[in-house]
Amino acid sequence: MTKILANDGINKAGLQLLEEAGFTVDTQFIPQAELASKIGDYDILLVRSATKATAEIIDAGVNLKLIGRGGVGIDNIDSVYAKSKGIPVVNTPAASSVSVAELVFAHLLSGCRFLNLSNRELPINPNGNFKELKNAASKGIELKNKTLGILGFGRIGQEVAKIAIGCGMNILAYDPFYKSVDLPITFHEALKLNPVHIKVTMVNKLKVLENSDFITLHVPSGQEPVIGEAEFAAMKVGAGIVNCARGGVVDEKAMTAALKSGKLAFAGIDVFEKEPPVFTDFIGLPNVSVSAHIGASTNEAQERIGKEIANIIINHFKK
Ligand code: NAD
Repeated sequence: MTKILANDGINKAGLQLLEEAGFTVDTQFIPQAELASKIGDYDILLVRSATKATAEIIDAGVNLKLIGRGGVGIDNIDSVYAKSKGIPVVNTPAASSVSVAELVFAHLLSGCRFLNLSNRELPINPNGNFKELKNAASKGIELKNKTLGILGFGRIGQEVAKIAIGCGMNILAYDPFYKSVDLPITFHEALKLNPVHIKVTMVNKLKVLENSDFITLHVPSGQEPVIGEAEFAAMKVGAGIVNCARGGVVDEKAMTAALKSGKLAFAGIDVFEKEPPVFTDFIGLPNVSVSAHIGASTNEAQERIGKEIANIIINHFKK
């Protein structure tokens, strides 16, 4: 019997598929410190973001035949080491793209209409704060006819572009991997409309920075921030920024300075250089909307992730 440890849990649809295919799945969480002593019992280790599949865990997993990550990045798996030991590492890169893209708009709309501020302040003193908050939020901005700059035009960047186009926005995209992308915009099936194809031609990064009303990042994490002091300086005064990609792709200190100086009108942040955040100077600013790394955390994405990872495992062991 092939035994799976889904240490960070698995959606019940995925669990059902695996059990129907004859796998035994344990979903109780084993703390990181105890994992090395228990992983030897399992053939497959499934993780989300919490569990780290380090070289030590991989060495202790003497029966491991596959490591799976329910989600996009595999930063929490020592995939080079796993592969050197002949253990494949698999993930579900596309399953949460729509969820992340929709969170970008939650932050954008929150920033444009000061929802973050009202949500924080109104409950504290509903009578006293009402008029003050009405005034503070009296200069809202619409998304329609604004320009959204998209840095990184892969899976999530493209989903963001589709929503932006639906909102009546112009888009400026930069991605060194593409020259242009044919973007299929689909509609709810009840509308019975054919997809519309829109060709998006990439522009250079400076053009995105200089001409966008809002900028959103959808790049992998790298050594250097993609947006730092020089990039903030190049942006329009009063631009908004959203980072639902990875902590560190935006320099948090430079962003804090830009928020405080008024260069940036607002920031929407789902990911932090350190999680939980260590540098917190920007988190409580009135023009900052934050979430706790929840880009992929929708019921729909978790169901897709669970099913996709289950099918990957089932097909892998069919061979
Ligand atoms: P993807 O690989 O499909 O696309 C990333 C794109 O970025 C690629 O096309 C690449 O060419 C481009 N790129 C790389 N460096 C660049 C740079 N310096 N400037 C511009 N473009 C650059 O990845 P994806 O699935 O779209 O994911 C994007 C990001 O979102 C990743 O960092 C991923 O980890 C993150 N993510 C976050 C959450 C969340 O919970 N907030 C959930 C899922 C994914």
